[in-house]
Amino acid sequence: MNSLANDLSRLSASSRRYLAARHRLFIGGEFVDSVAQDEISVIDPTSGEQVARVPAGGEADIDRAVTAARKAFDSGPWPRLTGPQRERMLLRLADLLETAAEEVSQIESVNSGRTLVATKAFDVDLSVDYLRYMAGWATKIHGQTMNPSVPYLPGGKFFAMTVREPVGVVGAITPWNVPLGQAIWKVAPALAAGCTIVLKPAEQTPLTALRFAQVVAEAGIPEGVVNVVTGYGETAGAALVAHPGVEKISFTGSTGVGRSIGAAAAQQLKRFTLELGGKSPMVVMGDADLDIAIPGTAMGIFANHGQNCCAGSRLFVHDSVYEKVIDGIARIARNLKLGPALSPDTDMGPLISKAQQQRVLEYIRSGVADGARVVAGGNELPGPGAYVQPTILTDVRPSMNCVREEIFGPVLAATRFRELGEVIERANETTFGLGASVWTQNLDLAHWFIRQFKAGTVWINTHGVLDLAVPFGGIKQSGIGHELGGEAINHHTTLKSVLASLREPR
Ligand code: ADP
Repeated sequence: MNSLANDLSRLSASSRRYLAARHRLFIGGEFVDSVAQDEISVIDPTSGEQVARVPAGGEADIDRAVTAARKAFDSGPWPRLTGPQRERMLLRLADLLETAAEEVSQIESVNSGRTLVATKAFDVDLSVDYLRYMAGWATKIHGQTMNPSVPYLPGGKFFAMTVREPVGVVGAITPWNVPLGQAIWKVAPALAAGCTIVLKPAEQTPLTALRFAQVVAEAGIPEGVVNVVTGYGETAGAALVAHPGVEKISFTGSTGVGRSIGAAAAQQLKRFTLELGGKSPMVVMGDADLDIAIPGTAMGIFANHGQNCCAGSRLFVHDSVYEKVIDGIARIARNLKLGPALSPDTDMGPLISKAQQQRVLEYIRSGVADGARVVAGGNELPGPGAYVQPTILTDVRPSMNCVREEIFGPVLAATRFRELGEVIERANETTFGLGASVWTQNLDLAHWFIRQFKAGTVWINTHGVLDLAVPFGGIKQSGIGHELGGEAINHHTTLKSVLASLREPR
């Protein structure tokens, strides 16, 4: 057997049973066959082999799912439950997902190529924590009161308040890089706010969303509140965006697709939040603590195989520490053990697909053709797996594709700098604006970078760390709106203003 392929006998009996099962769409509280009858072949990227098949839902399936979500919102119990009732249901969902942790992380690892440590941490544990975090928000959604003066009605007395109401039916479209994690980022706030939802997971990684649907059914979430339709983006995804029964689209994915989704949603003046691509800079100053900066920047790019929207894919190192930092990151890159997701000694699995592997390799090749130097990695591993070595390119120029465009793979483009003015200009010289980090021990410098970086999130002496309580979103071509924290509740509610004329009691 190819040693770079997953040994599926490592899977638990329940995971194997799940993979072998006939998968169906989850609509109106039931698992149902797709009207479309087409199927998607689900691939293990360590081997290129099919591990499951799921329905390729189409427009008619989306219509059924939206109709179910619409009914659940318009006349079902969910939006009418009290905060504490929704809180209890979300806590129950979290408990049941936690119980299924081993199976869910195994399925996710087989399907996404990421290690069990990664899928357990980011697809299961963080999802469980987020459901609990959002359960807490269900009891804390409220408006404000105001004391209006209404100057053009002198003598009038008024009282005013705002009320937050659930936005309605949410259409959620998610990517393949952290499949269940991304789905729960959308499901949890929607449920806490009293919305209903139709989730369309990425066609490459649909399995854990459907497994989560089982958890939803088991938890007793009312029918139609959560619906999962697997399918392709151009068909199922586009139908969800276009459906007039959907009030809000929550999308995470590439900038190109996000732009077309935003345009389509705007046609109907539908609300939308877009979490898109990035080309985030990491700046290492001469005074940085290199014992932290070297492993930190290495993980800033190589975590999740570089398949992170906030990956630190552009590195700027001060001239005085440049060689030391590049040598240190290169040593880490060379020591990362590439291998199958299910092997306990693997540090980094394959990319999501052969297509993605070839795309990433093309960026490396074009960088080299334009004069970049490979100081670590640079190649695929032989065989059918979608492996790419963690790669560091130096001698890069701002005009190169590997510096300008999002690669979504383990490729770092590194350059040196001497002046502050020079580095901030180059760090901000990107169409994206998702994240940025600076590594320094100087407080004044750190605060200067906080103000200067044009990015939705700034990290100091770390990169890519996200927390459930901290809003996450991009500026420029990296998106519109935020996920996580209280902002996620704001994006799933609408504000109703109430103004009352007061009279003296008679
Ligand atoms: P990637 O390039 O990382 O695969 P995409 O932006 O293509 O990212 O995909 C992210 C999600 O968007 C997936 O669920 C995909 O099916 C969906 N998608 C792709 N194209 C469209 C589209 N035209 N309309 C709606 N959803 C889409």
